[in-house]
Parts: sequence; structure tokens; C-alpha cells
Amino acid sequence: MKIAVFNDNRLGVIQRDQVFDVSHSVLWDREHVQESLVNLMTHYDECKAKMEAALSSADSYPFSEVKLQAPVPKPSKILAAPVNYLNHQSEMQAKFNNAPFTIEKLGLFLKAPSSIIGPGETILLPFKDRRHDHEAELGFVIGKEAKNVKASDAHQYIFGYFALMDITVRGSEERTWRKSYDTFTPIGPWIVTSDEIEDPHQLQMDLWVNEELRQSTNIQAIIWDCFKCLEEASHAMTLYPGDIIATGTPEGVGPITKGDQVRIQIEKIGEFSVNVDFREDTEHKAEDKDEVKQ
Ligand code: MN
Repeated sequence: MKIAVFNDNRLGVIQRDQVFDVSHSVLWDREHVQESLVNLMTHYDECKAKMEAALSSADSYPFSEVKLQAPVPKPSKILAAPVNYLNHQSEMQAKFNNAPFTIEKLGLFLKAPSSIIGPGETILLPFKDRRHDHEAELGFVIGKEAKNVKASDAHQYIFGYFALMDITVRGSEERTWRKSYDTFTPIGPWIVTSDEIEDPHQLQMDLWVNEELRQSTNIQAIIWDCFKCLEEASHAMTLYPGDIIATGTPEGVGPITKGDQVRIQIEKIGEFSVNVDFREDTEHKAEDKDEVKQ
């Protein structure tokens, strides 16, 4: 099932090119979307049956005519994978000469949940004079509380998948700081439940800036796959329903600037675009030529 949030916090099911409004089929409080989503995931079998039964009488719209929103708006945390593709490590080494390690030595890092935006929204760059990069990533949402889960069992804890951009300021500050600015985690276009993704590690992922293809990789090149990321994350901390894991970016990261449109597409999931602008309070801060870049 493809589950969307749209038009002022309605609950949608996507079929073909239509979004069906099933907000009234389950317990769905438009004032509390994250809590409603967690409830839906917790009672998914029952909710799925109700949503499917509601489709025949539900209002429907072409999804190109609705305002899709972030499908997981307020997770308790976002965990993200650094340097999880060897070809990305190579390019970072070549560009910045500072990528000695992969995820196997780095572990995962936290991104602020307040950085989430949805399809069609705008990434707001905090600096006029520093480099901000796009990173195309497969994201997934935890469906039930996970602690010390083995990779072999991890699929049972993943509710569904979506496309995610991990927007980044290059520089010497902590990763968490550089990747947690408001608007720096666009997600969408909806959640595809894990029963529809036979193998999340065989999906083609592409990202364009305007019409230029910047990133194009099959996720099979990943170092720690989704299940290993969940194992390691749940060993360190309890994962709650609604938490997000961002699985890292392959090669092809590059700068974005005001006026750009960034589009991500993942096979079997879908695609969405966001715009790029400066914040109103964008700072003029020249790059420090001596600082370490990462
Ligand atoms: Mn990333």
C-alpha cells in the first residue's frame, strides 16, 4: 500500500495516479498526524482492511493536483548513515581529501526531526557563501519498537520506505549540526509499505538538479544495508514507531543554490521535487580556507 499525507493533513492511499481520501476510515486526527500514523502502523492489519474497504466510496484526485506532505512529519528521531557507499567515500576523498572511514567505523548520526519538509516545499539555505549539497537516500520508517534487533529479523520492524534527501552544509562542524538546519530533510512522496518492496537493496535511485542527472546508483552498492543499519541503531538505542533511518548517499553529491529544483526518484517508490532558496536571514560568511571539509 502507498500511504500519503495530503491537503491539510488528510490520509491518502495512492493507486495508479490517484490519491484516495481515506481519512475517515481509521482513527486519523488531522491535528496529530504523527500520532495517527503511529496508531495506524501499530494496528496495521486492521487499518489496512478498513482503508481498502473505504476505497470504493472515497473521494479521489489525481495526485498531481493535490498538495502532498511529508509522510512522516514528526519522528522522535532521524538516524542517518554516513559514508555508506564506497563510491561516495572515493568522491569525498578526491574532493576534500578527508573521508578516511566508512560507516563501519563511523556508526550512524542523528539529524534533527525539525528539519523535515515534504514534496513541493523549499530547502532554505542558511549561507550565501558556503557549499550546500544534495544527497539522495533511501529512507524507511520504523513500525514497532525495536531494541537489540538482529539484521535477520529487521524486516519485521520496517513499516515502509520512501525517498529522502539529506541536505548538507560542507564544512568542519559536526555532521549533526551541518545536516540539521530547518528544511534539510525533504521526504516523500509517500510511504510504500514494506510488503510491496520485495528487496529494498535492488532499487535504482536517481537525483536531478534542474534537468541535470547528478546521482544514479542501484542501492545494491550499499555497505550497511537497511537491515544492518537497523540492527546497529537498535543496539545503541531504542527505536520507536515513527522513527526514521536515512541509509546514506552514493556518489554524485553536488552543490545546490537558490533557484534550483531538486528531484529524487526511487524505483518502486516514486519521485518528488523540492525547490531551493536562501533563508531570509541568510548569512554572508566566507569559507575558511583552512577548515577541514567533510
Ligand atoms: Mn547522507
